[in-house]
Amino acid sequence: AAASLALTLSACGQDSDGGSESDKGESKKGSTVGIAMPTKSSERWIADGANVEKNLKAAGYKTKLAYGEDDPDTQVSQIENMITQGVSALIIAAIDNKSLDNVLQQAKEADIPVISYDRLILNSPNVDYYASFDNERVGELQGGYIVEKLGLKDGSKKGPFNVELFAGSNDDNNTQYFFKGAMSALQPYIDKKQIVIKSGQTKMNQVTTLRWDGGTAQKRMDDLLTSTYKSAKVDAVLSPYDGISIGILSALKSDDYGSKSKPLPVVTGQDAEVASLKSIKAGEQTATVFKDTRELAKVAANMVDSVLNDKKPEINDTKSYNNGAKVVPAFLLTPVSVDKTNYQKVVVDSGYVKADAVK
Ligand code: BGC
Repeated sequence: AAASLALTLSACGQDSDGGSESDKGESKKGSTVGIAMPTKSSERWIADGANVEKNLKAAGYKTKLAYGEDDPDTQVSQIENMITQGVSALIIAAIDNKSLDNVLQQAKEADIPVISYDRLILNSPNVDYYASFDNERVGELQGGYIVEKLGLKDGSKKGPFNVELFAGSNDDNNTQYFFKGAMSALQPYIDKKQIVIKSGQTKMNQVTTLRWDGGTAQKRMDDLLTSTYKSAKVDAVLSPYDGISIGILSALKSDDYGSKSKPLPVVTGQDAEVASLKSIKAGEQTATVFKDTRELAKVAANMVDSVLNDKKPEINDTKSYNNGAKVVPAFLLTPVSVDKTNYQKVVVDSGYVKADAVK
């Protein structure tokens, strides 16, 4: 198999060792690009994988796509395989941002450029570019939505309102950006005592959700309702991701929230996943943050195409994302807040989600 692979690769102008001096200056069109995605358990990553492949194929590349099923070791070995197979470039959405240092060193030795996709890979100098969204802005939209929806922003209400906080996976670099952005919107009202985090769990490390798991979030919300809300009501929940929002809503509904006397709190989210759009339509989840992953896939594919053709990729940020080893040049896209009033226009009419799916 190795021999035939070497043949295939040399037939497309690439050495089996993943590129060497003789490649310099030659186009790598026709070569195979490795794509490592974190999990199929969320729609967005399935769409990301498919869209990255589509764009690369349209630009004349072959692709090898693997999903790590939320297991960091699996992802590392998938990337090792891609390197051994002689991919010309790697696009990686990391599961654990700190577990890729060794494998990226191998990529470097094989002269394989690396694009960090959506989530920044930390502590490695061997990350060439970062394609993502303005992650802090995502959090500002989530926190800002709560403040606005509770009537605090325009001063029509003064509270105090009970709010609980959820954050994403602590091994995902985005988590701290989402949380920081959200807290920048909430903190002024916490300071004025118009928002109260009744559980007292205000620090990010008290509220993270390993691997963004909805069941884990549901369990924590159940526990909060029992420990803190026996005789009080939750008015809003900061949720960083739709899968977590759905878990939170399940816990709330089993505690009778959503009935006439006990309205559901404001619940935020992220990714505009179908289950959450349906929930928004049904008046349960309140909002989500739409990130057009079709655009992200385009950005990443263009980065690869540029790098492999000795051109500078388009970047629009050279300061925000220091990964501990270097500031990684980035292209950041803009997230959009979505609720009942605009999901149709933003998410459905743009073709991101089919109208039938949200029926
Ligand atoms: C992504 C989010 C996603 C989350 C869970 C984050 O890194 O930026 O869009 O909701 O992972 O998959």
